[in-house]
Amino acid sequence: MPDEILLLSDHIANQIAAGEVIQRPASAVKELLENAIDAGATEIQLIVKDSGKELIQVIDNGKGMSPTDARMSFERHATSKIRNIDDLFTIRTMGFRGEALASVAAVAQVELKTNKEDGAPGTRIIIESTEVKLQEPCPMNKGTNIMVKNLFYNVPARRHFLKSGSTEFRHILDEFTRIALAFPNIGFRLWHNGTEQFHLTQGNLKSRIIALLGSNFEKKLVPVEQRTELLNIFGFVGKPETAFRTRGNQFFFINGRFIRNSYLNHAVTHSYESLIEKDTFPLYVLFLEIDPARVDVNVHPTKQEVKFEDDRLMYSYLQAAVKHALASNNIAPSIDFSLSPEITTLPAVQLPVSDREIEQTRSGYLQHIFSDRNQAHVIERKDSLRNWKELYEIAKMPEDTIRTKPGGHDALPTQAALIATPADTTPVQTNNNKLLIHGTYLVTTVKSGMMLIHVGRAQERIWYDRMLNSWNTRESAASQRVLFPTSYEFAPQDAVLLEEVIPDLARMGLEVSHLGKHTFVVQGVPLGLRPGEEKEIIEDVIEHLKNESPDAVTSRTDMILARLAKTLSRSSDAIQHPAEQQALIDELFATSQPEYTPGGKKTFKMIKKDDLDNLLA
Ligand code: ADP
Ligand code: MG
Repeated sequence: MPDEILLLSDHIANQIAAGEVIQRPASAVKELLENAIDAGATEIQLIVKDSGKELIQVIDNGKGMSPTDARMSFERHATSKIRNIDDLFTIRTMGFRGEALASVAAVAQVELKTNKEDGAPGTRIIIESTEVKLQEPCPMNKGTNIMVKNLFYNVPARRHFLKSGSTEFRHILDEFTRIALAFPNIGFRLWHNGTEQFHLTQGNLKSRIIALLGSNFEKKLVPVEQRTELLNIFGFVGKPETAFRTRGNQFFFINGRFIRNSYLNHAVTHSYESLIEKDTFPLYVLFLEIDPARVDVNVHPTKQEVKFEDDRLMYSYLQAAVKHALASNNIAPSIDFSLSPEITTLPAVQLPVSDREIEQTRSGYLQHIFSDRNQAHVIERKDSLRNWKELYEIAKMPEDTIRTKPGGHDALPTQAALIATPADTTPVQTNNNKLLIHGTYLVTTVKSGMMLIHVGRAQERIWYDRMLNSWNTRESAASQRVLFPTSYEFAPQDAVLLEEVIPDLARMGLEVSHLGKHTFVVQGVPLGLRPGEEKEIIEDVIEHLKNESPDAVTSRTDMILARLAKTLSRSSDAIQHPAEQQALIDELFATSQPEYTPGGKKTFKMIKKDDLDNLLA
């Protein structure tokens, strides 16, 4: 029998490894920018074409490479940053695995120019699919200039699965923003398709935040600074009024490395307590400096997840630091922010990591639509439609035609009596069979008992269907001009998303135009919207687009319609008059799905006469 085991060729091994390190253009951007930073650059330029699919180029003025190092840098596990395993625990550089360049070179056409000193000849290398095509001396300033062309050109399946240009560019912006925030002392420039998107001069953190996230934060940043024996915390948090409906402006950096951590996020958001509305997210750009030995950054190749030794303690320090900052800026009442060990026994510290996350997922739009209970209604729908029609007929009957069996006062009506046709019965004494409770619920009599309608949700369903209809008939929704258009500035990533949905929004009556880089102006809003609500809708839509899972069954249009409907329903006027109440019932039952809001919440509930009887039994 022949032996079967073969060693993978370098090329294939690198391609496989590349899959882990380089998932999309943004991953290559991250790696190249990090290399420039590790090389001590003070000025870094990022040049991108076609959202990185055609070109990702990074030019730095760092220390450069010798001809041999330049060639070596593309070998797998080639790194100048660690020598032995102990170095891992004192690592201060961004990279250390020595995989990035090897991975990039396995899945793209790469050209590198580098030089260790001005005036001396530099090195030029061309490498494609791991194969060195050329190495020659070339004129070059001190520093490195690397071009990654046609990423995944030799892995068609990967290239095919890249998202639309705007999505990929948004990921690139995410990476760029994180790195540029972490290194305000380095100048950065970003070009996309020949247009300069950012020109960030060397400066301090505050000016960097403003340059990246928007000048509207200028007077709204509260400095945070706390030194403890375990870690140093510094950075800025936004004043409560900067809390957004979207989560975009939240950044943690551990030793200069961007991380996501819902536990720490919880610590910060809870520091605001009642200062911000529920479901809004405060801005923060916070740096935690900790002895590298106490953090394990090695858990994930893309290094966004980290493990800490003392995460409880970090939680309480962080929360105390933020509370302190808010309090000493007279934003929050002065509270006890002493960093005594007792703080670790605060209930907040004992909370499970992600109760907020769990709650958010539960109340999420998709969750509602696909949760078992609600999925069932989709299947039930055909049968229950007939019942709704019937209900509706009853609910819209003039009051005096609602009847009950003679003698109904004395004897309990039988089941048969309840489902008897109105013609068999005699009038009820009431002259209005509808009752509005606390402005929230509408109760109306129906054949089998009563129907409890949630007014806001009913309005949500109604608005949704109205807008869907005009969408389907391709008429633009009725729009009103805004008298004094306000401009809004968004985070760059959000701006890209918003840009994408402008035509959809317009068709729904929300006229948004792009003013400048990340600034938009709202010129028209759907009829019925109150001033100021447009911002809320836009933020909501962006937040949903961000969390949109790639296989979402619900279309984007649907999602936007649902958000609009929700806001419109909140601004709908109260329904005091019986005629308005009737109109609401009429319109609800004329919708495609009267029983549920577009988000899957119940709009009404039937309460059977029997159940009422039981209540008092
Ligand atoms: P790592 O960053 O994990 O060491 P990389 O594959 O990203 O691995 O880079 C390999 C090596 O190439 C680095 O350790 C560094 O010595 C060198 N290198 C890469 N990019 C640059 C750069 N822009 N300037 C100077 N040296 C670089
Ligand atoms: Mg690297």
